[in-house]
Amino acid sequence: MENKWIFVSGGSRGIGAEIVSELARNGFSIVFTYRNSKEEALKLCDSLTSQGMQCRAYQCDVSIAKEVDQVVKECISLFGAPYAVINNAGIVKDNLFINIEEKTWLDLMNNNVLSSYLVNKAFLPHMISQGDGCILFISSVTAFKGNTGQVNYAASKAAMIGMTHSLAVELGRFNIRVNSIAPGLIETDMSKNLSSIAYKNMIKKIPLGRIGSTKEVAMSVNFLLGSGGNYITGQTLVIDGGMSA
Ligand code: NDP
Repeated sequence: MENKWIFVSGGSRGIGAEIVSELARNGFSIVFTYRNSKEEALKLCDSLTSQGMQCRAYQCDVSIAKEVDQVVKECISLFGAPYAVINNAGIVKDNLFINIEEKTWLDLMNNNVLSSYLVNKAFLPHMISQGDGCILFISSVTAFKGNTGQVNYAASKAAMIGMTHSLAVELGRFNIRVNSIAPGLIETDMSKNLSSIAYKNMIKKIPLGRIGSTKEVAMSVNFLLGSGGNYITGQTLVIDGGMSA
């Protein structure tokens, strides 16, 4: 990697894929992971590299310690410490709280929370030695604003915001900034799975009256990682068209 490089978990589709493209266009080299969507991952990587940008994709379930450690080890030996780590990989498993089985609860927590622990813990010693860097969590407005059927998801996204505050305090002395982005309703496969009634109800609650785009999230990520974000740490930037206002 010739430029500063950035690790993005879950970069093959949706918000993650747009973050990968936006940051690559802005001169960063990128490593991203995916779990199942190999075709999309390779297509994205090929498209960026054919335009002269630097990108690598690894199949890696970021909720599994062994897989994370293997990829992090390889990245560190090839490219050194990353400039930034973006904890984007996430899933929903919506259901009314009383119907959520323990296994489903744990699966979601492992996927959305344990993954951030594993990825950040593996990279941090190297970032601390480098004395420079950023950690970013892709949380959700659901962390602040209740939503029927999303108690598990809300708890996982609130955990990311808790990690943001405490990690920012712990890591400031190493010149590592830690922030979160909390998107509202953004147009991806995840939001396409909402029923049309739930979708219409959500749009009604958005002052800007529309769903957000992945590009609008990715541009904010670029801002926080760039010089505009140099004195910002421990914060959550809400990108929700005013839904939580
Ligand atoms: P998508 O379902 O469109 O994409 C999710 C991406 O994460 C895919 O690339 C998927 O890879 C990857 N992924 C999921 N779990 C893992 C894992 N364990 N290991 C590796 N990769 C994984 O989701 P979105 O783009 O919509 O969401 C991205 C993030 O933004 C999530 O954290 C989500 O909670 C958050 N968010 C989304 C909102 C929305 O309205 N869309 C609103 C607020 C927050 P694969 O396909 O291979 O499984």
